Amino acid sequence: MSYNIAVLQGDGIGPEITTEAIKVLDAVANRFNRKFNYKYLDIGGAAIDKFENSLPQSTIDECKNSDSILLGAVGGPKWDCAADRPEKGLLRLRSSLGLFTNLRPAVLHGALKEACVLKPEIAEKGIDIMVVRELTGGIYFGERGRKQSSLGEAAWDTELYSYGEIKRIAKVAFEIAGKRKKKIVSVDKANVLESSKLWRETLIEVSGGYPDIELSHMYVDNAAMQIIKDPSQFDVLLTSNMFGDILSDEASQVTGSIGMLPSASLGESKLGVYEPIHGSAPDIAGQNISNPIATILSLAMMLKYSFDLTEEANAIELAVTKVLTEGYRTSDIFTGGTKKIGTAEMGSIIAGAI
Ligand code: NAD
Repeated sequence: MSYNIAVLQGDGIGPEITTEAIKVLDAVANRFNRKFNYKYLDIGGAAIDKFENSLPQSTIDECKNSDSILLGAVGGPKWDCAADRPEKGLLRLRSSLGLFTNLRPAVLHGALKEACVLKPEIAEKGIDIMVVRELTGGIYFGERGRKQSSLGEAAWDTELYSYGEIKRIAKVAFEIAGKRKKKIVSVDKANVLESSKLWRETLIEVSGGYPDIELSHMYVDNAAMQIIKDPSQFDVLLTSNMFGDILSDEASQVTGSIGMLPSASLGESKLGVYEPIHGSAPDIAGQNISNPIATILSLAMMLKYSFDLTEEANAIELAVTKVLTEGYRTSDIFTGGTKKIGTAEMGSIIAGAI
């Protein structure tokens, strides 16, 4: 069986990190006798330069025809004043593919404990959280506006969630928890918000179909505190769009460098967009110093979630762990006593470890 992957390299460090990720995937193909076909497509600033459009229709069509999508990153100062900004292309890609789930694993690698910002006794307990964030509903998509009030101009946004939207993201979280430690903490503000009450009621209903998964509920303010106090207590953290936006950044940052963290955006089908959580890092582009591990780990997520190739995905994660344990570091995770290497070397060494 072969898999067709659309590769959207994008801008800044996008081309260099995706090149290294594909080096690793080719090594996976060799070891496990799989075939991955790559189709390179334009998005972001690169697409604006070529087509005056941050997401040409041909890119959308080709993405819909592929089995999965690998994205580098988009954006850069060159296009900051453009009418059609590179980031708009990315948002249009997510919405045109109906990607309502955003998965952001926040894992503290054993070899990188010194990079953790938390106290050593907290880091020692480990961090392995999967944030499951609803991505196309809630306050970012609700009605908004401005009006006059007795105290001057007023502005309003609406947090609106339907039963159907909550149910479909809840089911994703339960399915994922089933493949992990079978524990979900659902984040809400049900002591105040009506939308959170429906969120909680729906979660309780959906949990009836998953008797082996433990569901608990946590108010968002407490969740923000607990991520810093004891992140080891979390397995799957399920959130609405806005709560997840904030908490996933918090959860990922406590683990160390932004260059380490992958993500997946998924819809109803197996088609997904897999990308590092960081941006195009124009300040370090083209210098062979960016960390390709977030992109490499995004491919591991693709193998797991789009292709059900769990053994192959595990091989990537194990290779990354091995290389970090051997002391290889790009400059963002470099500490004394380790071996500083460049982007291309990191890709080659991880590919070798596959
Ligand atoms: P950024 O994530 O690109 O960079 C923030 C800092 O982290 C920089 O110092 C950068 O050098 C460093 N960094 C990022 N990735 C790294 C890596 N793999 N290895 C080592 N260091 C790394 O965020 P920014 O500077 O705020 O944004 C730059 C551009 O990226 C902007 O145009 C922004 O809009 C865009 N952006 C795109 C995405 C995306 O494509 N999904 C996400 C965020 C920002």
